[in-house]
Amino acid sequence: MNQQKNTKQGILVKMNIVLLGSPGVGKGTYAKRISGIYGIPQISTGDMFREAIKNKTEIGLKAKEYIDKGELVPDDVTIGIVEERLKKDDCKNGFMLDGFPRTIAQAEALDKIVVIDKVLDFTASEKIIIDRLSGRRICKSCGAIYHIRNIIPKVKGVCDKCGGEVYQRNDDKPEAVKKRLDVYTKQTAPLIGYYKEKKLLADIGADKPIEQVDEIIADVRKALEE
Ligand code: ADP
Ligand code: ZN
Repeated sequence: MNQQKNTKQGILVKMNIVLLGSPGVGKGTYAKRISGIYGIPQISTGDMFREAIKNKTEIGLKAKEYIDKGELVPDDVTIGIVEERLKKDDCKNGFMLDGFPRTIAQAEALDKIVVIDKVLDFTASEKIIIDRLSGRRICKSCGAIYHIRNIIPKVKGVCDKCGGEVYQRNDDKPEAVKKRLDVYTKQTAPLIGYYKEKKLLADIGADKPIEQVDEIIADVRKALEE
């Protein structure tokens, strides 16, 4: 570990974290929890792109073509938005990248910008992944994550947290899901070896049902504070 930390109080003085794992493994859900515990921002490139699409910005219009098909947005665009985001003040005590890097080229670019302290690799069986993706619903306004069977909003179609519209992402529909899993295997899974070689990788089993998410978070804390 290259930076000082205080584990006794469960406070990480500085921690630059990357979350790896297949689409649907639950990264976004864990990221929100971990971000709350340690007070570091969750930086989700997927959320940033969806925000840009909603606001019809130039980057949003460009990204939408790729995202709806389940393909990766080109590296130059993605690296650019992450580089800008990491310059913001709230990243100076650490951050958690959720959904970036997704290619070796992105990981190499990231290494030129910051030092990464830990990479958490979440794994779950294919059956669980497909169930999580096909049943996932999200809030159009705040990005809160729901599921048709396990995490149901109190009022159908309405976000508990902000009252926004809860919808199914285009890329959570079956055709795009298949493509995304394929893209993950070919383009993102090689990052496991990349970070293992740098001795930064911690495996976190994420097969447990959502009711036991606390146990997954406990494993994450162990990995980060050891
Ligand atoms: P999930 O983790 O469920 O696949 P995300 O919200 O992380 O969902 O990403 C949704 C889509 O946004 C991806 O399928 C891809 O098209 C695009 N995207 C997100 N992050 C990246 C990235 N680092 N590089 C390229 N494309 C990305
Ligand atoms: Zn909401």
